[in-house]
Formats: sequence, structure tokens, C-alpha cells
Amino acid sequence: MDAALKPGEHIVGVDIGGTKMMATVLDHTFKVVGRSRKKSRGKDTSAASEERVYKVIDEALTEAGNPEIQGIGVGSPGPLNPATGVIIDTPNLGWKNFPLAKLLKKRYGAPVLVDNDVNVGTYGEWRMGEVQNCSHVLGVFPGTGIGSGIIIDGKLFHGFSGAAGEFGHMTIEVDGPYCGCGKRGCIEALASRIAIAKEVAALAAREDAPYILENCGTNLSRIRSGVLAKAIAAGETKVELVVRNAAYCLGIAVGNAINLLSPEAVVLGGGLVEAMEQLYLEEVRRAVKDHAMPFLRKGVKIVPAKLGDDAVVLGAACLITEHLAGE
Ligand SMILES: [Zn+2]
Repeated sequence: MDAALKPGEHIVGVDIGGTKMMATVLDHTFKVVGRSRKKSRGKDTSAASEERVYKVIDEALTEAGNPEIQGIGVGSPGPLNPATGVIIDTPNLGWKNFPLAKLLKKRYGAPVLVDNDVNVGTYGEWRMGEVQNCSHVLGVFPGTGIGSGIIIDGKLFHGFSGAAGEFGHMTIEVDGPYCGCGKRGCIEALASRIAIAKEVAALAAREDAPYILENCGTNLSRIRSGVLAKAIAAGETKVELVVRNAAYCLGIAVGNAINLLSPEAVVLGGGLVEAMEQLYLEEVRRAVKDHAMPFLRKGVKIVPAKLGDDAVVLGAACLITEHLAGE
């Protein structure tokens, strides 16, 4: 990270996730000097979500000794307008046309930048991970949903609507299973953690996955990435096949994206990748070999994300720092 801040200056990075909220305060060397983390409840009112954001930032600032701050970067679920910092609609947080950037700016008296959490996570991995020297990067984060961030010519790409990067809703199988978005055969319907859990629960019900049956029953919400990894390590080959198929499916879409965008690097992150990095990347690389044009896939790095849970807070901090430096 370029030293854009002067000694004594501080910035805040915020991650407003679907299940957790996190804030970190960083000093001019990008050292974390304060942090706070809170669980989000599944569904909340607009006012309660707003309060929780303030609380998480206030706590991180208190831990840092309440320094004056130069700016706040925020990663939030979308859709949102990155130009105005207005959250368009996030049912889980109760926000509809919610002016998050404006409210934070007023409360903390510092410039605020808000962008989609997956964009921000990709940005963090790009600026602080192992693909720093690449100008064109695609970040894909398979989890409960499957989002992506696109960096072209060293800048986040937002597209006409501001919401570019809905990787999970590209159609892979025309008559495939229904997706949460209402379409059929989206990558998300085939390769998300929920899609995997559905198939694995069926295996457990048929007593084809005893480790899963014993540890999670057939409860989809309990069949999470960590337990899938453990079942595979315990030798449940059918579970392994389900995960490999899902990763391959996602890899088909990565191959298509390589054909379209010609990135230098693809960064894969999120719970599934973290829990089963080697297996997951193996299948994605295999699918890319099968589905991207040889000339376009040549030399493309396909790497795991490095920042884990901190990708969004650090990416948000990078974004606001660069924004301040460019002013
Ligand atoms: Zn969809």
C-alpha cells in the first residue's frame, strides 16, 4: 500500500456484512490500531442497522484512542450507488434508498466512500494481496451468494448501472435449478454454499454421507464450508464429488469471464475456498482450461484470496486512502 497518509493521520474501514459488521481504524502505516465486530441479526429495521454501524465504528475508534480521522471507507451489500453512497435496497438491513455516506459524513465529519462489499473485498486483495502488480483483476467470492469484483486498468469497474459484477446470476444451465433471483440455472443455483448443502443433505438423508448426517443432520444451514471440508477429509467421496462439481461449475463461469475481460489474475475467496483451497482451485483451473480460449487464459494467475475476514475492511481503507490522495 502506498503511503498516502501522513504520520498521525488515521482512516476507518467498515464492513457491513449480511451476518456481521466490522470496523477497523488504521494509522498512516496501515497498522490496525482499533477494531470492533458485531453480529448482525438476520433481519433488522433500518434504524437498528444504522445504530449498529455507528456503534461498531465508535467502539473501534475508542479502542484506537479516539484519533481524528481523515476518511471512512465502507463495503456494504448492494445494490447501491457508489457515486452517491446511497444503499438502494438491502432487505436484511432494512435499508431502502438509504443515504449511508451522507449520514456517516455528518456524524464523523470526514469524507466517506461506500462501495459494494465484494468490490471492496476484491480491491483489498488487489492492493494488499499477491496480485498487486496486475492491472486487470477479477475477484470471485463463492459463499451463500456468489459475487465478483472487476478491476480494469487499475480501477473498479461499476458499469452503467453502478452494479456490475453480478457473477452469480450468469446462466450456466438453461433448464437448471431455480435461483433466488427467479431465473433458472444461474451459477448461484448450481455452485453456492446453499446449492452444495442441498445436494449434501440429500446424500446424508440417503445415508451416503455418515459424517454429515452425524454432525449436521440434513439441516442446510448447518452444512457449512468447514464441515464439508471435514467430511471430505474423513473420506466421504460423494461429498467431495458434489463440492468438486460445484467448483467446476463456477470455473466454467470464470472461463467465460476470462474470454470476456482478459484479466491478468483471478482471485478466489470466501468460505468455501478458504476451507478447501487446494481442491477448489484445482477444479476452477481445470474448468478454465476447458472453457477459456487458449490465448486468453495463457499466463492468467488463479490465486486464493489472502486477507480472509479482513478483505473488506482493508479494501475499504485502501479505497478511501486513494480517494483522499487523488483529491
Ligand atoms: Zn440467479
